Amino acid sequence: MSTSPSESRRQKAARRAGEFPAAPEPLAVPVFDSHTHLDITIQEAGVPGGPGADPVEALITAAAKAGVDRIVQVGVDEPSSRWGAELAARHPSVLAAVALHPNDAPLLPDLDESLRVIEGLAASPRVRGIGETGMDTFRTGPEGREAQEKSFRAHIAIAKRHGKALIIHDRDAHQDVLRILDSEGAPDTVVMHCFSGDAEFAAECVRRGFYLSFAGTVTFASAGSLREAAVLTPPSQIMVETDAPYLTPVPHRGRPNASYLIPLTVRALAETRGDDLDELCAAISANGDRVFGPWS
Ligand SMILES: [Zn+2]
Ligand SMILES: [Zn+2]
Repeated sequence: MSTSPSESRRQKAARRAGEFPAAPEPLAVPVFDSHTHLDITIQEAGVPGGPGADPVEALITAAAKAGVDRIVQVGVDEPSSRWGAELAARHPSVLAAVALHPNDAPLLPDLDESLRVIEGLAASPRVRGIGETGMDTFRTGPEGREAQEKSFRAHIAIAKRHGKALIIHDRDAHQDVLRILDSEGAPDTVVMHCFSGDAEFAAECVRRGFYLSFAGTVTFASAGSLREAAVLTPPSQIMVETDAPYLTPVPHRGRPNASYLIPLTVRALAETRGDDLDELCAAISANGDRVFGPWS
């Protein structure tokens, strides 16, 4: 059978999947990664540092060397939430967020029981966020929307009961997210993870006091409206994240992402906003300590 061009592109992407990009120049003033999935990165992309290295330590050490000295490990289901809570309990550089992902919630055999597990984990002192939760009309069709919304409402309530930050996944669902937050009453601290709106939606989130966390997407050539959103976000409400292993910043799109690549995203943000890089890093760090900290 002959190989079509699209197949060969896929094969090429698969071959490159395990190749982590070279480390960028480290940041002088450290920042934190507000949203990463160490467990998925290890499963899907392997380990920087090669065989024999402890995968979690290798990722955390590589990040620290790049000036990313704190990490928020984000859960998407029961096992990953438990894993993150346990890692945070023993690792001074890691805090955890726990949740059922909005695309997983409609598929769970017993949503109520899974929510009880998340509520149990939420009580851990080093679990500082409830997320990622929210709405996703891109990957979940109308048949899953009711369970997705029920799960989001339950996570909002958990965040409020435990006084933890709510970390929102919003994919093609800006107005649904605001409608549900308004009807439940938003928790004191809300982080819009991988902010994906335009300037108008950013202004709405800023007005509500939400934090806007920008991922590698802000470096993409096509992301003009996202950069407009970044420009109008006040320094006191801005964060940066990888969402690793996804959303690898330019110039490494197609390769795996990890926290040590944050400097590429922060530098792009500083340039877009006309900020002094060190001042932006200091502002991001202060926001992280206020929302999630202290780490140790
Ligand atoms: Zn997400
Ligand atoms: Zn995520």
